[in-house]
Amino acid sequence: MDFSEDEIQRYARHILLPEVGGTGQETLLKARVLIIGAGGLGSPLALYLAAAGVGRIGLVDDDVVDLSNLQRQIAHVTARVGHAKVESAAEAMRALNPGVTVDCHNIRLGPDNVRELVRGYDIVCDGCDNFATRYLLADACVLERRTLVSAAVLRFEGQLSTFRPHDGGPCYRCLYPSAPPAGMVPSCAQAGVFGAVTGVMGTLQATEVLKEILGIGEGLSGRLLVWDALAMRFHTIRLSRDPDCRLCGEHATIHDLSGHAPAAASAAVHGAACGHEAMAPS
Ligand SMILES: [Zn+2]
Repeated sequence: MDFSEDEIQRYARHILLPEVGGTGQETLLKARVLIIGAGGLGSPLALYLAAAGVGRIGLVDDDVVDLSNLQRQIAHVTARVGHAKVESAAEAMRALNPGVTVDCHNIRLGPDNVRELVRGYDIVCDGCDNFATRYLLADACVLERRTLVSAAVLRFEGQLSTFRPHDGGPCYRCLYPSAPPAGMVPSCAQAGVFGAVTGVMGTLQATEVLKEILGIGEGLSGRLLVWDALAMRFHTIRLSRDPDCRLCGEHATIHDLSGHAPAAASAAVHGAACGHEAMAPS
């Protein structure tokens, strides 16, 4: 291990943990994580991954910071309203830890760019705000054999799971075979979201990403964590692989992304101002 004095100090509380140690910290510094959405979930996620020393962090978002974002999207500040979200979040991450590399992808994900993007990283995090992107990303991760850590929030509820079908776990489509009809599940922009709920879920997502990188503890592959913030109750639901899944099943029919609409068309279902639709109607 070849840490500088500054790195030894910065990561001292990690290095003290037997589950992380110097070797684990070195693994984090070499890891590459892609975050889709620099919003309510992406803010704490990006900040905690940067703080933890994840060496390369990619941010994907084509939106600009809006005043209505600041109730929960804590990587952004009032002075950066109107700035590109990826640049604004990158500024906060670099201020926190100049040792990490942040790749800003100020683009909308589409079938033409998602696979190449996903291929450049080890783990992918979904914190997006629309079903078109969610399914596109889920499909691309299965096709590229990338672990997907996926979170969603709406009102006072959050959900989190990890999809690793290349290791035998279920994929997103095993859980939700296809997107609900447009308008059936309201977006945060329509139904609202309690700001701190996105902070908790994004932080839980960061915890799971770091555990996946380090290979420690019990991950959420095959389990869905559901949190009801009003009742303050967490519970987990067992998920099993669907042998008839169109994406990861034995007789899969999805072999590429040709069934997805181009990025420009999918923008129509983009929930502009706010957060993240729930994974399913609740
Ligand atoms: Zn599946």
